[in-house]
Amino acid sequence: MNGHIVIPASAIETGENRIELTFRSGDTPLNRSDDFLYTIFVPARAHESFPCFDQPDLKARWTLSLDVPDGWQTLANGAETSHASSGGRTRVSFAETKPLSTYQFAFAAGKFFIETAERNGRTFRMFHRETDAAKVARNKDAIFDLHAAALAWLERYTGIPYPFGKFDFLLVPSFQFGGMEHPGAIFYNASSLFLDPSATQNELLGRASVISHETTHMWFGDLVTMRWFNDVWMKEVFANYMAAKIVNPSFPNINHELRFLLSYYPSAYEVDRTAGSNAIRQPLANLADAGTLYGAIIYQKAPIVMRQLETLVGADAFQDGLREYLKRYAFSNASWTDLIEMLDSRTPEDLAAWSHAWVDEPGRPSIATELQVADGRIRHLAFSQRDPVAARGLAWTERMQIAIGREGKVTLLPIELYGATAEVPSASGMPAPDFILPNGGGIAYGDFHLDQSSRQWLLSHLPEVPDELTRGAAWVTLWDAMLDGDAAPANIVSLALDSLPRERDEQNVQRILGYATEAYWKFLTPDARQRVAPSLERAFRTGLDAAPSASLKGAWFNALRDVASTPETVAWLRSVWSQQIQVPGLVLSETDYIRLAEDLALRQPSDAERILDDEAARIKNPDRKAQFAFVRPAISADASARDAWFASLAAPANRRREAWVLEGLRYLHHPLRAASAEKYIAPGLEMLQEIQRTGDIFFPKRWMDVTLGGHQSPAAAATVRRFLAHAPAAYPDRLRRIILSSADDLFRAAAITGAAGPSR
Ligand SMILES: [Zn+2]
Repeated sequence: MNGHIVIPASAIETGENRIELTFRSGDTPLNRSDDFLYTIFVPARAHESFPCFDQPDLKARWTLSLDVPDGWQTLANGAETSHASSGGRTRVSFAETKPLSTYQFAFAAGKFFIETAERNGRTFRMFHRETDAAKVARNKDAIFDLHAAALAWLERYTGIPYPFGKFDFLLVPSFQFGGMEHPGAIFYNASSLFLDPSATQNELLGRASVISHETTHMWFGDLVTMRWFNDVWMKEVFANYMAAKIVNPSFPNINHELRFLLSYYPSAYEVDRTAGSNAIRQPLANLADAGTLYGAIIYQKAPIVMRQLETLVGADAFQDGLREYLKRYAFSNASWTDLIEMLDSRTPEDLAAWSHAWVDEPGRPSIATELQVADGRIRHLAFSQRDPVAARGLAWTERMQIAIGREGKVTLLPIELYGATAEVPSASGMPAPDFILPNGGGIAYGDFHLDQSSRQWLLSHLPEVPDELTRGAAWVTLWDAMLDGDAAPANIVSLALDSLPRERDEQNVQRILGYATEAYWKFLTPDARQRVAPSLERAFRTGLDAAPSASLKGAWFNALRDVASTPETVAWLRSVWSQQIQVPGLVLSETDYIRLAEDLALRQPSDAERILDDEAARIKNPDRKAQFAFVRPAISADASARDAWFASLAAPANRRREAWVLEGLRYLHHPLRAASAEKYIAPGLEMLQEIQRTGDIFFPKRWMDVTLGGHQSPAAAATVRRFLAHAPAAYPDRLRRIILSSADDLFRAAAITGAAGPSR
């Protein structure tokens, strides 16, 4: 009853009791398709399929047999021990596992291809459904190599051999996560491992990172597991943090400090700057809400905080503490407090106080530069911090590396922020700088309010900064300045136009392209967009022609496809799509052509059906064909088809393929359709509670992101505010926070576009 089985006291005897249950397996966590299925039991879904105590601190050894149609392949946590066929069915049994929590237990069965490889004396098996043999051939060695390298690194770092015997992984089409770390049977999203020849450098790095992330979980999460889901961030932070350490040697040409900055800070800020932010460590009364804990704060802010912890404790003591922690709690559970105690004994710093501000509280310090210049020299330089939640009055402790730029040179000064103000006496007497950037060394975390002359200088001279890390940090800071109203969106777009032709670092190019397109769609009014479109498209075309690598060509092309609006560019893209034009050096995959067809259909409504028909006819892969058919009505030029598609989402069965739903919603709410899509915002908000109940862990936030991401009008913002104002007092706080953080850009954009006059 309601997830409980009541055993009458009369049925229980003194001493050992044995309970046997027969049950019909629940289908929800089994992710069934016609010819394959896979389990996702995280965070507490196992009990929806079979009776169990579904919490992480109860570990069990599992044995499993599966009865499947002949010709199907199977994988599970344990190695296969027997295999017998009769009457068209096959019975497969698997060896008993090590002690595992319910969320780590997994199996999959279906029509899969299997690739096998040996690395360092270990056999790896990759299960997948990719029909494009060239794509598999192109990617498989790199995928096996990355796994082997991650395993070797982790065995060395932890001093503990891989704990779970065999090593298989499954690549799932349209998987709802990046990956899921089932011991001995990792599941991945196929598209992030099987890359196209046009893969961007970010995608190559992303693939290496997700593989290292899931492999790290074999130790951090699977071998030692959090006691309760309030500490789920611990396994995620270690996975992300170790992944960065593992990936670095494989990409010697990358600036990894810049990579750390760009992969974590902007995404963490995206949530932490909002009224909906949460602490890294959050209380969790009921495991049923565990899914709502996941998000940018635990995936992106926590690694930043963990890097600070490592700096505070020292790398050797940190590694030492982790080894002891893994050894002491192997095949068992531990909490954040257990780890902090272990590290605290290795350092004179007060880790408990540090942990309170960074781990137990949400938000970031607001840090202002105080600069006085007299007679061409710095007279006084200091940084003051303020808690944006005034009533809380929190003070953060952090190490910063401030950048002082002058005449084409950048000097980094390490300082410690502690208490309200940090003076920098060593700067006194230095010649007056062009700019001062508190996070110029890529370390400091906060909302930085630059002094006015530094901000002005960077807004017009940023490309002249010689160091790529400082340039990246300046971009992250100026984006915040735009959101805070200290810089105009149009200035950010022109700074991008000025920077792009001169930027040589691929990571910065990608980031600037991202900021340019985001500023374009979210923060420029439609009129302003029209004015800037020709120069933006011209710059992206030029960048595409000049790009020195396939991955950069891919990045430029995607940006161009994303912003395209002038008839010339749309016509040119159409010729690329119909393969009348080949762009030298740019290789487009089936997925690229699908995206192109979808974006073209949106921009050429009178021709939309023809474009989409032609595209449907040429898709070869059955999974992609099905996804395309699902998404198609959301792109339709016919408003009633879009209405019907949105209405169909009311049925949970139509929301099972979360990646498909999100893709459709992104087109439904595309900025070009924003006016006609405003009516879907209120029902989308109404559905959020049910989305959380029926969907997987990332779905509620992503649902809100795509529902609001295409909108910028004051009316859309008002719809969200009205919903929040009228929600009952008992409305779940976590969902309220999700709405507030997804709506943050909309609120800011509405303030900007509203102030600029009516947007249409
Ligand atoms: Zn993870």
